[in-house]
Amino acid sequence: MSLRAFLSRRVVAGEKVCPAALLVEGEQICDVVAPDEVPAQAETQDFGNAAILPGLVDSHVHINEPGRTEWEGFETATRAAAAGGYTLLVDMPLNCLPATTNVTALEAKREAAQGRCRIDWMAWGGVVADNQCEIQLLADARVSGFKCFLVHPGIDGFTMVTEQQLRAALPHIVRTGLPLLVHAELPAPIDAATECLKDADWSLYHTYLESRPEEAELAAIRLLLTLCREYKFRLHIVHLSAGKALSELRAARSEGLPVSVETCPHYLHLSAEAIPQGATFFKCAPPIRSRENREALWRGLRQGTIDLVASDHSPCPPQMKRLADRNFQSAWGGIASLSVALPVMYTEATERGFALNDIARWMAESPAKLAGCQMRKGRIASGHDADFVVFDTESEFVVREDRLYYRHPVSPYVGEKLRGVVKATYLRGNLVFANGEFPGEPVGREYRR
Ligand SMILES: [Zn+2]
Repeated sequence: MSLRAFLSRRVVAGEKVCPAALLVEGEQICDVVAPDEVPAQAETQDFGNAAILPGLVDSHVHINEPGRTEWEGFETATRAAAAGGYTLLVDMPLNCLPATTNVTALEAKREAAQGRCRIDWMAWGGVVADNQCEIQLLADARVSGFKCFLVHPGIDGFTMVTEQQLRAALPHIVRTGLPLLVHAELPAPIDAATECLKDADWSLYHTYLESRPEEAELAAIRLLLTLCREYKFRLHIVHLSAGKALSELRAARSEGLPVSVETCPHYLHLSAEAIPQGATFFKCAPPIRSRENREALWRGLRQGTIDLVASDHSPCPPQMKRLADRNFQSAWGGIASLSVALPVMYTEATERGFALNDIARWMAESPAKLAGCQMRKGRIASGHDADFVVFDTESEFVVREDRLYYRHPVSPYVGEKLRGVVKATYLRGNLVFANGEFPGEPVGREYRR
């Protein structure tokens, strides 16, 4: 097998950023060496000052196939992801039809993905009101873990769980040893707040924000921490938006509870104050909150209370955003960002003194650990898959619709100037994206934990 060497002055390998060469044989990294140690027979490519980061892992994506391929799909989601520097997506069990709540549905998803993926993928299984007996079967079929909602997920066909239903599921989840990812908002504070907003102006973002108060997240997180203490299951809070919850999460971690936390690029970049009237493409749940709250989330990352950043890429057909109605109540909630998440994060992180290795930890290593693929994914290290992204940190670009690459180019980031350009993405040694092109056949496949 021929040996290839990929060099850069800034290779992000673990906590180090230094001049190095990745030695790649077939699909794997066989070594990481100093540039002057590259064997003479290696076919060499030097990326100079552009950084080489591990291929990003997104542990929170709604691909929506099978069943709602008109919303997104494996072909378009993995294309956008490759352009964004991702090499592995973990698909959420809802918005596709059937939802991934049993093995038959999982097999249908595997069938749909066949031959369509530009990058690798894994599947989360769903925990709903009445599928406790499917949990072990899904684990045996090698899902990465499970996802549930404590509030209505905004779509029928995937039921939320009450505390009682969650208690019925937890012993089964504990037996699998897999993580449970939870959408942590409780309905009661949302219902109460919404009740008071009957006559409010729903074209204003502020109305929507008031309808989903931080208390909904706080109450859900308190309940989950109590259950975590009782059942000792591996708990993961998805898309934390309420900075107020950080102190309790920090305390839970120092108590030794097995809890991890994610937030998303949109909570770290956007702020409620700047969202224009009627701009429903900013709607997501939980909502984007104040500027001050955004800075609290950055402190959460700095202190390590927030472990990782996932996109929660959740697209829909443009008409579901109700842009003509300008109505934040009826619009679909979800922000698609696979192709721009890395530059969004780089732009914000460098302003706050973070480095490339922080981004690699948040967007590659920690999500890989959560999904259970950390032996092969999420790091530049010998024995790992040769998944990496060449990232030009010096260049800036303006987000345009033709650079989004997912099915419906709707995005709150359009028109923004961002720092950092993905020049190329390699999946298991194969070039899957370079300068706006997607060379070769789709070689992505499912990775099973
Ligand atoms: Zn989601």
